[in-house]
Amino acid sequence: MRIPIQSVTPATGTAEVVGWVHEIRDLGGLAFFLIRDRTGIIQVTIVKKKANDAVLAAAKAVSRESVVRVAGTVRAIDKAPGGRELVPETFEILNMSESPLPLDVVEKVPAELDTRLDARFLDARRPRVTAVFQIRSAVMQAVNEFFFDRGFIHITTPKIVAAATEGGTELFPIAYFDKEAFLNQSPQLYKQMMMAAGFEKVFEIGPIFRAEEHNTTKHLNEATSIDIEVSFADHYDVMRILEDLIVYTYAHVKTSCTDQLANLECTGFEVPAAPFSRLPYAEAIAIAQKMIDEPIRYGDDISPAAERAIGAEMGGHYFIVDWPTEIRPYYAMPYEDDPSTCRAFDLMHQRMELASGAERVHRHDQLVQQIRKKGLNPESFEFYLRPFRYGMPPHAGWGLGAERLVMTMLDLSNVREAVLFPRDMHRLVP
Ligand code: ATP
Ligand code: MG
Repeated sequence: MRIPIQSVTPATGTAEVVGWVHEIRDLGGLAFFLIRDRTGIIQVTIVKKKANDAVLAAAKAVSRESVVRVAGTVRAIDKAPGGRELVPETFEILNMSESPLPLDVVEKVPAELDTRLDARFLDARRPRVTAVFQIRSAVMQAVNEFFFDRGFIHITTPKIVAAATEGGTELFPIAYFDKEAFLNQSPQLYKQMMMAAGFEKVFEIGPIFRAEEHNTTKHLNEATSIDIEVSFADHYDVMRILEDLIVYTYAHVKTSCTDQLANLECTGFEVPAAPFSRLPYAEAIAIAQKMIDEPIRYGDDISPAAERAIGAEMGGHYFIVDWPTEIRPYYAMPYEDDPSTCRAFDLMHQRMELASGAERVHRHDQLVQQIRKKGLNPESFEFYLRPFRYGMPPHAGWGLGAERLVMTMLDLSNVREAVLFPRDMHRLVP
């Protein structure tokens, strides 16, 4: 019976492994094959004088990245990966790979990201890439555990919608029978509606679609958002949930993904400590004004250059709080004593924004007024506004980008490294 390559040791005695031919080295009388599965790599050593004809024939014919089944005796040997080798009694080719390969899995010559993404199925065979997606999977497990442990209800809201969350033009229109429809940019309005339904604590992990014509290393046109909404909570309450989630997720990855972290050379991987610092927007702007040449004033959005400058000053994870009301969405709750600032926040990582959230406006009249102030028409939000007339509790929530979480956690240089099949302005296939 086959065993995972990682668990083959000299003590195993005999072993059968199934995997891909990672490397072939033929030294005349001796041939070495590295066989790889998702758990590791083992050396298969063939002494040509001693091997049987069937093994010799298969070994001669096989190409790199073919799928093979090899069974034989395990021996300790210092020089081979994992300190052991497999001397085959059988060597079976399950499926021969074509040559040449569109991408070198061993990657002696580093490939361009575009080439890698074009052949993602091959790229993802590379142990470093496998490690990223195993860690992403562990992150998702941790996020789910975290919310279920705290009594959240998991919800799924529609991705085909009739209206934009925040107006704006960053929407992908789609053909929906004879109606105008769009891919949803955020579950915002729907998760808020579930507060009116009395669900109290909800979370959703799902796709968000942004028709932004950005070409940056941190924007995708299809991203994954981790969203929550909580009733009878203010923005401080949901900020605490957010920092606890970040800490929980890092801690889970640190203990459950040690091999993957080693593979990615994330040697300095540290679990951040909560609470994260809370930097008022006005102070963030003051830091940016000091550090960068670009003009920036109170009331401006925080530009990428400002984001980097503030990040360099703050380090690690931190919140920016107390935003000007005019640059946050209509659903953010203004402070009573100073309505020009609101109960909104962004969770930042030194390198970029990770999440945005706020306490929400829960009174119908105030919400209508704020929608109008943004130059939007309340009539197109009637489906959303209706629940606010029939007992909407106070509530707060946030949305956290899963790709940016993984990207910053693993110090990846491009957000596309954290998605299997990224969608950007130039990429719709595969
Ligand atoms: P940015 O200003 O960095 O473009 P945003 O403020 O437009 O982000 P939000 O609408 O606040 O983004 O979305 C909440 C979170 O979802 C972001 O903090 C980010 O982590 C993630 N996110 C949003 N848009 C994208 C995108 N285009 N690509 C990847 N992640 C995204
Ligand atoms: Mg934001």
